[in-house]
Amino acid sequence: MKFGTKAIHAGVEPDPATGAIMTPIYQTSTYVQDGVGNHKGYQYSRTQNPTRHALEKNIAAIENGKFGACFGSGLAAIDCLIKMLNPGDEVVSTNDLYGGTYRLFSTIFAKYGIKFHFVGMGDIAEIKKHINEKTKLIWVETPTNPMMNIIDIKGIAQISKEAGAILCVDNTFATPYLQNPLDLGADVVMHSATKFLGGHSDVVMGALVTSNETIAKEIYRIQNSYGAITAPMDCFLVLRGIKTLHLRVQRHCENGEKVARFLVAHPKIDKVYWPGFEDHPNHEVAKNQMRGFGGMLSFTLKGNKLEDALLLVSKVKIFALAESLGGVESLIGHPATMTHGSIPKEERDKTGIVDSLIRLSVGVEDAEDLLSDLTLALA
Ligand SMILES: *Cc1c(COP(=O)(O)O)cnc(C)c1O
Repeated sequence: MKFGTKAIHAGVEPDPATGAIMTPIYQTSTYVQDGVGNHKGYQYSRTQNPTRHALEKNIAAIENGKFGACFGSGLAAIDCLIKMLNPGDEVVSTNDLYGGTYRLFSTIFAKYGIKFHFVGMGDIAEIKKHINEKTKLIWVETPTNPMMNIIDIKGIAQISKEAGAILCVDNTFATPYLQNPLDLGADVVMHSATKFLGGHSDVVMGALVTSNETIAKEIYRIQNSYGAITAPMDCFLVLRGIKTLHLRVQRHCENGEKVARFLVAHPKIDKVYWPGFEDHPNHEVAKNQMRGFGGMLSFTLKGNKLEDALLLVSKVKIFALAESLGGVESLIGHPATMTHGSIPKEERDKTGIVDSLIRLSVGVEDAEDLLSDLTLALA
């Protein structure tokens, strides 16, 4: 099956009780058993719920994986994966990553004795330097947030296999429509379903997908043991969101390209970070592993002044000043004070998150309106 067909149909069947074409919101905590041990596959909703089950199958299918698991947030999904590790284990992680992931790794899990190495993953040799017999997980985010660096998933899969480590890719930015890390050799894919999968800025959710049965068993065991599950209503919303994922992402890509080309030609703009540009340092890798370049981009202003950046984000009218991304509406953000405020300034400057850096999540509105909004605000 092709992507759009899977997005709409995978994991979803007419409700056996009524024929309802949409998966019902099974708002129930427990399930009546016919006799002791004689149930219909569901016993308690922390362990499993039919609405969540449909969504987990659907997300697994669009990532070309076998097993899916959904959580109360993207960070709860990451938390589950890290809980597969033991004290003393080491993780090699992308250095330019989602601020909340950095905070989870460095302030929560570090104190449980897990060691994190944050490295620039553009250079494979640099990654190899941090690999040793204790390395159990390689954590990759690509495109990275907010610098839009592209990391070669296939290249890193090679290293992780040699090291006997699990490779997990945070695929939130790319979406399964543009990139499937499992096909490129990753063991696990992670999503903040809050973003493009949900797509309508009305839900917070996370997901993990794998085809490895041993890893899947651990994920389900931890999901059930820690209980960071997601609610049936939210599963219904994300199931509905995914039905239009391919259509939305097509438009995000078209609008993203128009905005990127507009900004790069504007006299007040210094740099534009968007992997679709031929002079983007990782453009070739992006072309090889992605089917499009998406609607996420960031840029800096000439002069690199904090006050100019704050003025610009206050002047736009259609772009809403907000954290998050991936919804139908366009958002604008200032990483240094918003999403990446928890990363120390010297770390931020090293990775390019300078004072005038602005990030856009280009939505699916009419591109002409987005361009005129930016034109007026920049003036
Ligand atoms: C938002 C986000 C997360 C965290 O997900 P939540 O749903 O907010 O917990 C992780 N990674 C990336 C790339 C994100 O954009």
